[in-house]
Amino acid sequence: MQSQEEVKATFKLILIGDGESGKTTFVKRHLTGEFNVQHNATLGVEVNHLLFHTNRGVFRFEVWDTAGHEMFDGLRDGYFIRSQCAIIMFDTAKANTYNNVNRWHSDLVGVCGDIPIVICGNKVDIMPKKSWKTCINFDRKSILYHIEMSAKTNYNVEKPFVYLLKKLVGDPSLKLVQSPAIQPPKVVFTDEMSCQVERFLDEATSYTLPPTYD
Ligand code: GDP
Ligand code: MG
Repeated sequence: MQSQEEVKATFKLILIGDGESGKTTFVKRHLTGEFNVQHNATLGVEVNHLLFHTNRGVFRFEVWDTAGHEMFDGLRDGYFIRSQCAIIMFDTAKANTYNNVNRWHSDLVGVCGDIPIVICGNKVDIMPKKSWKTCINFDRKSILYHIEMSAKTNYNVEKPFVYLLKKLVGDPSLKLVQSPAIQPPKVVFTDEMSCQVERFLDEATSYTLPPTYD
């Protein structure tokens, strides 16, 4: 059984960023054989354990996700302390969530120092790549590594973890040897499906109901 394979190391990962940017959805996309969710009511956090099988062995992330109170002064140091890596998420469809990335970053670095960090621009299924890049001009403003993704369609959902593992293990050639256990994407409404619905509606409206008699 893959989940019984020896885990080489466990890394505490904190997941931060403005509320509604998709953090909880992102964590829930990843399913591992090891179902282990812990709630810490004092810190307002949910901890999910995610396993990744790589060419350097099996690694576990202990992902700390806030329980919905992502105010800058709401996260206590206890949340950040001893984090070995971090993901800062923003919503590519909402420029203000990008503008807050710098604040999240300085809060994080203030407590954790120089740890591997990846910035994730989520919801690229809504905001096409080009438009959000010209909107916020990410590359020029920041030297931080960033990934664009969609927790809804599963686009790039494993990439932040692979990037962090490369840094943590110190091996740029680290790669996944098994697909991570990821939920199937939510239904994507294709053009073909829209046509089917339109045809169905046409037929439904052209159908005359038989008269009713009291
Ligand atoms: P959190 O507050 O950062 O944990 O955000 P949530 O995970 O609760 O997500 C906030 C809302 O964004 C929910 O309605 C999600 O269904 C939606 N959402 C999350 N990820 C995506 C995505 O990639 N694309 C789209 N279109 N919606 C998303
Ligand atoms: Mg959440």
